[in-house]
Amino acid sequence: MAKRDYYEILGVNRDASADEIKKSYRRLAMKFHPDRNTDDANAEEKFKEAKEAYEVLKDTDKRAAYDRFGHEGVRGGPAGGGFSSEGFSDIFGDVFGDIFGGGRRGASQVFRGADLGYELKLDLERAVRGESVTIDIPTQVACDKCGGSGAEKGSDPVKCTTCGGVGQVRMQQGFFSIQQTCPACKGAGTTIEDPCKSCSGRGRKSKTKTLNVKVPAGVDDGDRIRLSGEGEAGRNGGPPGDLYVEIRIEPHKIFERAGADLSCEVPISIATATLGGEVELPTLDGTVSLKVPSGTQSGKIFRLRGKGVTTVRDHRKGDLFARVVVETPVNLTSEQEALLRKFEESVSVGGDRHNPRAGGWLETVKRFFEKIS
Ligand SMILES: [Zn+2]
Ligand SMILES: [Zn+2]
Repeated sequence: MAKRDYYEILGVNRDASADEIKKSYRRLAMKFHPDRNTDDANAEEKFKEAKEAYEVLKDTDKRAAYDRFGHEGVRGGPAGGGFSSEGFSDIFGDVFGDIFGGGRRGASQVFRGADLGYELKLDLERAVRGESVTIDIPTQVACDKCGGSGAEKGSDPVKCTTCGGVGQVRMQQGFFSIQQTCPACKGAGTTIEDPCKSCSGRGRKSKTKTLNVKVPAGVDDGDRIRLSGEGEAGRNGGPPGDLYVEIRIEPHKIFERAGADLSCEVPISIATATLGGEVELPTLDGTVSLKVPSGTQSGKIFRLRGKGVTTVRDHRKGDLFARVVVETPVNLTSEQEALLRKFEESVSVGGDRHNPRAGGWLETVKRFFEKIS
């Protein structure tokens, strides 16, 4: 029988992240777990198939080989391996480890603390420069009085009588025997008879932590900085979660940013556009002088190399794109109006020579109406 595609087996796209692959495998493993499907021989096949696909796709090298050469690329790997209980418990520990701590069935459950998110608002200049920012985040920390055990000083948590300290109980549901978290101890395997007064036996307390975040120069909107272990404290001795600081860059009055490049608009007068001249142009390192050649049309974009942002990832220096907008004069005196009329008369003698765009445009309009009639 031809082997099915590993991505298809796991129901993920070819560009799926390691996390998506893991999640999908976890879902299938739960569904086809032999313990839950004792009367369905197909389930075990499905389970093995998913396991094989996961073994390859979770491994960066094997996945790359599979992407290039297909099943041929990973032959002799897990494809040849049979289903053994030992292999099963390994993979079980690997995938479920982050939920169940040790991962071995029968061990009491420890819970990794929750990840936290924090939105850090920065203006463009600060994001480009990078800086250290102090933030306050409300979180859960291990209780300092009981060290996170939840038991009052001098007493210890005792073995749970409902599950015998295992943290899990078997429940009969129809034909299935399902292993469930012990309702009495919530998976801890222990119960507390004399709860810590400081944390009411929870082992954790609310606290606002003050942290210093180093924002690297060049961060962009949506970038995330991970602070390992700075999330909520774990439960039952589990490890703490992580803190993700997400960067939000506020809109800028002058510049728009697209990756490493910046763009801005520069208003120039009719005279400067016509005769040429120099205009002051703002950049993040101060102003520079931009030479505007004579006869510059509105909308023309000038590129200033290296005047953009240096990115965090590849340290590439972007460019600044300045788009000139020719400004129409307003609030003219009658004298100024008269001058402009005189000017208009003098250029109309030259016809299209002075207004290259209008000339071409009038021709196009004429042809358009000829076609209609
Ligand atoms: Zn406590
Ligand atoms: Zn229990």
